[in-house]
Amino acid sequence: MIRHPVARDELEPLIDALDDRWLTKAGARTEELRRAGRWDGGVKIWSDIKGVYRGLQHDKCAFCERRLAGPPYGAVDHDVEHFRPKGAVRGWPPAARGRDRLSYSFETGGDWPEGYYLLAFNPWNYTTACKVCNSALKRSYFPVAGRRISGAEDPWALKSEGAFLVYPLGEMDADPESLITFRANLPVPRVKSGPRFRRASVIIDFFRLDIREELLWERSDRIVSLFMALDLAATGSASRRALAERSIAQHLSPFSPHTSCSRAFHDLYQADPDEAARIADECQLYLDSHSRPQPAARGRRR
Ligand SMILES: [Zn+2]
Repeated sequence: MIRHPVARDELEPLIDALDDRWLTKAGARTEELRRAGRWDGGVKIWSDIKGVYRGLQHDKCAFCERRLAGPPYGAVDHDVEHFRPKGAVRGWPPAARGRDRLSYSFETGGDWPEGYYLLAFNPWNYTTACKVCNSALKRSYFPVAGRRISGAEDPWALKSEGAFLVYPLGEMDADPESLITFRANLPVPRVKSGPRFRRASVIIDFFRLDIREELLWERSDRIVSLFMALDLAATGSASRRALAERSIAQHLSPFSPHTSCSRAFHDLYQADPDEAARIADECQLYLDSHSRPQPAARGRRR
């Protein structure tokens, strides 16, 4: 994950520029929810401003940093995600999560039927995510270390809840890269203990950032290609070096998939090029071993 910069007073003008009636409609819907005292399942208008978040996030999933479709099919590929669930919150980790069932020595918050219904139409409660992160994993979970705040209306005033997940837009929350870094293709907590360690561990577990094959594959691919560019920039001819420098800059820019992983590998290359070479080799081995043809699906014999 990386932070996507947007100032506190910049988000609403971006929404206005896309749809100058949206904020008024959102205000009216929030008033309806205030009267109802809960999420009412009624009119949903957040998809109308999906483009604002896709733009800020460079068409990447906020949580796994995969690059998703841009125009004209981006709206299909990206989900608007309510960072704090608008309806009933379920305790996480769920009791049944198969073989990789999780348990922690610290509290992560239980079920909470009330939900953050007054944040259903708050622009600072949205981000966009891929369908795996949003629909399959995030769902209506929102683990917290502290007490949930009832009737919350301002996401900027909820620090005391001790949310484990990190909001990626602007400076409302910690910089995700201050919590999670990468060792080769694997995310790891940046610090070894304490609240930031626990937070990073939960984020990695929550979105399965360390076991999803598609993420391990893509990160390995990025690492090998960044290593090639770094090597070429150090040893190639002048014209090749120029191309390599452009490629390195692209890897490290927020536009690329898995920027955070690439930045961690770039730091390693600067500090210890031999170790970086060993890791690039390991990543290529990973790609080799995961590039075999799949066994043919069983079908009717002709
Ligand atoms: Zn994702």
